Amino acid sequence: MTATALTLTGARTGQSAPVSFEQVTKKYGNVLAVDNLTLSVENGELMVLLGPSGCGKTTSLRMLAGLEKITSGVIRIGDVVVNDLPPRSRNIAMVFQSYALYSHLTVFENLAYPLRVRKLKKDEIKRRVQEVAERVQIADLLDRKPREISGGQRQRVALGRAIIREPSVFLMDEPLSNLDAKLRLHMRGELKRFQRDLATTTIYVTHDQAEAMTLADRVAIMNKGVLQQVGPPREVYRQPVNMFVAGFLGSPPMNFLTLDVQAEEGQLWLTGPNVRYPLPPEQAAAVRQASLARLALGVRPEHITLSHHPDERAIPAEVYLVEDLGNELLVDTRVDGQQAVIRIPAGPAPSIGDRIWLSFSPADLHLFDPTTEARLPSPSPAPRATLS
Ligand code: ATP
Repeated sequence: MTATALTLTGARTGQSAPVSFEQVTKKYGNVLAVDNLTLSVENGELMVLLGPSGCGKTTSLRMLAGLEKITSGVIRIGDVVVNDLPPRSRNIAMVFQSYALYSHLTVFENLAYPLRVRKLKKDEIKRRVQEVAERVQIADLLDRKPREISGGQRQRVALGRAIIREPSVFLMDEPLSNLDAKLRLHMRGELKRFQRDLATTTIYVTHDQAEAMTLADRVAIMNKGVLQQVGPPREVYRQPVNMFVAGFLGSPPMNFLTLDVQAEEGQLWLTGPNVRYPLPPEQAAAVRQASLARLALGVRPEHITLSHHPDERAIPAEVYLVEDLGNELLVDTRVDGQQAVIRIPAGPAPSIGDRIWLSFSPADLHLFDPTTEARLPSPSPAPRATLS
């Protein structure tokens, strides 16, 4: 794309563009809001920026929109460096949590507004408003004012107003967080579908991991201004690079048990006052390589099975609390004083105070260095036998 294609007057609308952040930093005085962010979003991709409050998601979005000046680095939309382009010249459309609709205008006029600014002909405006209104299912609400429609409908109007501009990039900052739980789920599905159909590059900010996992083509997880990991939802869930990512994804989150590493008779054991767990051979190589005295063992609640019978290859625990969700049970246990939550299908529930044994498949274990919180490198797979 050329520079002129991105200016408002010469905007080449309807053409999605990739986005890249290259070593982008933003400081507010002493606060390092975004620290050396390098992230490429492919053309047509839905990238979710995920992280806790204050991790720099909104600041990243605002820098891309041109609402915040960057301290250093380069941001590109298409081939164009947009660092110094004003917001209106970037051909992006934003959808926020607050719908930012004009309350004195009808739904029709709210949708028509971006086209009137571009001085499109009346007939053309009418045609496009009708088309977009049908797409976001608000065609029967065009004569109403925003206060006369529901929250979900208002969100659709906001979405329609963004779509009608045919931007190169959509920026969405927690656009569903004002909706009640049911509507939120519904709109989440709709949004995903719209994005798929429009195939316009979209960057979506949320702190809700379930929203991120269901919407994203790829998720970029941030913490304290630093990008931690980028990847498709399943990949970041299965291969989290550190304890932060592992603990942020999943509900309830991954359990971590910090245990001592002991070598005896050629076997590695993870031990605690009441724990003596033989580390599966699949994992032992990585632990030996890292030569750690202590290890954080991570395992997801859904990967633990529970038994009332003592088992040498399992970890003993005591039931602290049981939550019955109807279709499943969350069993909150303590292992040497450390919390481990287990998620099992509804059935006979253990009782508070029961002594139980937790086991898991070696493939579902995640090992971390408790000091650096980094994942231990997976041992290289055994060389495949080749046919000669
Ligand atoms: P949230 O989910 O709460 O919106 P976020 O991940 O979007 O959080 P940002 O709003 O990007 O986080 O903020 C990142 C950091 O920068 C925070 O520490 C915040 O306090 C700080 N910050 C943001 N805007 C400003 C500002 N205008 N002046 C000073 N500090 C700011």
